Amino acid sequence: MLRKFFSYYKPHKRLFIIDFSSAVFVALLELAFPLAVQWFIDDLLPSGNWSLIVQTSILLLLVYMLSTFMQFIVNYLGHKLGINIETDMRRELFNHVQKQSFRFFDNTKTGHIMSRITNDLFDLGELAHHGPEDIFIAVMTLIGAFLIMFNIHPELAVIAIVMVPFLSIVATYGNIQMNKAWKRMYGKIADVNGRVEDSVSGVRVVQSFTNEQFEMDRFQKDNGEFRLAKLRAYKVMAGTHSSIFMMTRFVTLVVLVVGSYYTLNGSMSYGDFVAFVLFVNVLIKPVDKITALLELYPKGMAGFKRFMELMEQDPEVQDAPHAKPAPVLKGDIEFTNVSFRYDSHKSVLKNIDLSIPAGETVAFVGPSGAGKTTICSLIPRFYDVDQGEISIDGIPIQDMTLQSLRHQIGIVQQDVFLFTGTIRENIAYGDLEASDEDILAAAHKAHLEDFIASLPEGYETQIGERGLKLSGGQKQRLAIARMFLKNPPILILDEATSALDTATEQIIQEALTELAENRTTLIIAHRLATIRDADRVVVVTENGIEEQGSYDELVAQNGVFAKLHHSQFRESKLGITKA
Ligand code: ADP
Ligand code: MG
Repeated sequence: MLRKFFSYYKPHKRLFIIDFSSAVFVALLELAFPLAVQWFIDDLLPSGNWSLIVQTSILLLLVYMLSTFMQFIVNYLGHKLGINIETDMRRELFNHVQKQSFRFFDNTKTGHIMSRITNDLFDLGELAHHGPEDIFIAVMTLIGAFLIMFNIHPELAVIAIVMVPFLSIVATYGNIQMNKAWKRMYGKIADVNGRVEDSVSGVRVVQSFTNEQFEMDRFQKDNGEFRLAKLRAYKVMAGTHSSIFMMTRFVTLVVLVVGSYYTLNGSMSYGDFVAFVLFVNVLIKPVDKITALLELYPKGMAGFKRFMELMEQDPEVQDAPHAKPAPVLKGDIEFTNVSFRYDSHKSVLKNIDLSIPAGETVAFVGPSGAGKTTICSLIPRFYDVDQGEISIDGIPIQDMTLQSLRHQIGIVQQDVFLFTGTIRENIAYGDLEASDEDILAAAHKAHLEDFIASLPEGYETQIGERGLKLSGGQKQRLAIARMFLKNPPILILDEATSALDTATEQIIQEALTELAENRTTLIIAHRLATIRDADRVVVVTENGIEEQGSYDELVAQNGVFAKLHHSQFRESKLGITKA
């Protein structure tokens, strides 16, 4: 774990070396200062040499200025190092998450992923900066100060250093308490965040039920608990810091009293005495630093552990070692004995055999939950089959690179996901290199032109978060335009028009029919009217593929499909058009 952590320093080696050596230099100056004072009092002062006193003071001033500059470097470059490492990790994690497979997202909360990429790494940068540097300097200062003090007066040095173990006990105890308190606080802030996310994204539901007061109360409960948890953390922190402060002042007093005794009995000089009192302060600093580290280390490392947990999770669906980019596909799709389950306790598809010739339009119908969407998700390898094989144009999909496979499959679903941005940007998502003419042509084919022309800002209109400002039909047409731009040989329409009213559906249907031209098309539909023209109908039930044939053949066959047909036919006679 630590080795992995340190590997992130590698790209910033130079920065680390400059920062680290500056910090060591500053620490050495701190150690030297009491010695300078000692020499000043014992040797320089009695000589009465004013010009030397002034010269020495000027020299000290220069040294101080240098030290200040070095401290600036440590503060600035050290934090720069920390931020660089944090940013590298964040980038790596984001890239890694982008590559994860569907199953990962099925099982992981969005808020969880977000907090890992943002919050969890906050403390890591700080730790990366302070960790190695502060430990080294604290230990160096402690040992250095003790040795010098021991050299001046062994007994007094031992009396002064005795405080260190006591201080450590107090600091450790305080920090254990503080860690608990901080951890609780992070849990509570996550609750607050979750609450905000929920009620803001669900604000339309909240207001339509007029449950604002309920939401406010719920929020205030979490918010109040967060306040208490944070307050508790600060209380422990204040207590620990006060105890440490108290103990260090106590040691200073002890050194003052015992030191006076030794000075008066002649076993040390006045200069030694002053130097000693100053050294007590030098000793306190590393204790403070280690105290801070005791707090930072578990926080940062907890974040790093969570980071590594995710980084070590390989995407489930990956390019096979022998995978080659697929050629331009015609779209002959073949399922051979395919079985699949999402999780171990329930099989969704069992021994499915299916062949779809290139250029055909095949409709999938059947009860909800039968596995129609699942069949379609297996073709772009959103999930890998457990058994059997899927091939396109005779090439097993495992032998193609994921990118070249998915590039040639387009999916339009019932709920279209659009990104915050303009209409142009959302169409262009189908092909990031598309020219303006291509985008206009795609909008034209999707019957979007009139709508876009009616907008004051046309293609530059902001569509709101996830396309909030568009109607269902408009969103669907945008998705179709995006698909015209992508222009894949294989097209999957998964209940693309199910959420729309019949009038809108008819308009969209025209665009969809044009989109399906010259492609292998898989349509999943509820309303049978939309699949009248399909070359073939495949009926999927819990038992697998139950029937297949042309629409009229299946009606004549008088099986599951015929029943479905008659029930919808009856409904439409009664004036209920929605299946
Ligand atoms: P259809 O599209 O025919 O309505 P699906 O293919 O969506 O059916 O679902 C088939 C079965 O698999 C259902 O029982 C559903 O609950 C289950 N299922 C679908 N998606 C997932 C998923 N991501 N994780 C676990 N189970 C799923
Ligand atoms: Mg479905």
